[in-house]
Amino acid sequence: MRSNGFLCATCGIQYPPSETPPAHCAVCEDERQFVPVEGQRWTTPGELAAGHCNAFRHMSEGLMALSTVPRFAIGQRAFLLRTAHGNLLWDCLSLLDEATLEIVEGLGGIDAIVLSHPHYFATMAAWGEAFDCPIYVHAADRDWVAVESQHIIFWEGDQFTPLAGLDVYRVGGHFPGACVLHWPEHGTLLTGDTLLVTPDRMASFMWSYPNNIPLGAREVEHIGACLRRLQIERAYSAFAGREILLEAGRVIEESVQRHCRAITQS
Ligand SMILES: [Zn+2]
Ligand SMILES: [Zn+2]
Repeated sequence: MRSNGFLCATCGIQYPPSETPPAHCAVCEDERQFVPVEGQRWTTPGELAAGHCNAFRHMSEGLMALSTVPRFAIGQRAFLLRTAHGNLLWDCLSLLDEATLEIVEGLGGIDAIVLSHPHYFATMAAWGEAFDCPIYVHAADRDWVAVESQHIIFWEGDQFTPLAGLDVYRVGGHFPGACVLHWPEHGTLLTGDTLLVTPDRMASFMWSYPNNIPLGAREVEHIGACLRRLQIERAYSAFAGREILLEAGRVIEESVQRHCRAITQS
């Protein structure tokens, strides 16, 4: 392991190196996360690596999902996109072990890391350092960065292109800087927590997923307006199995309408 700061065992975010665990985890004390009833727990990259590994799953041409098994903290997936213009890592995992380093190097390394929002910051500074690549975080979420790094680049505005052929859109809602990644060539949308694919294969839009606090109609309509302009066939949310693999653009549009109907009924 190349990083040695304590990890929050509940959300997976890493803090700067210290002798003793931090007193608090700001991410978990926020209403969009939670502190376990038995109190906050901490672990280290070494402990994590001793009991876990990362699994790699082919999702579609050029798109691979990475997840830590057994599940750790929030349990999100990260995605490795392999394109003609380079490789991009969307979101991040806390575990960066030697096997992951070797496998990802074998797949061509990483040219850019883009974070959808602070819940998946994980050990992003260590990944950026290991693969010597930029880490893009929206400037609106800069206060949530726990470990500073010269690799982190704060981007501003509502759209940017980290690699040719990949577009990142800041849509807000869940976090002020929350963003999605669109891969037009493949009709693919990676959503982070901007939306969660529901068991009926539609989408919900929550300000806090663990505490079931929905986003308001105005924010969801804004997200809908941002996504309506994109050609989206498949949408992958942060969790395994939570994806829409057919006509995702239409399904998301219907989901926006369903959500707004539900929360404006009196
Ligand atoms: Zn935490
Ligand atoms: Zn989140």
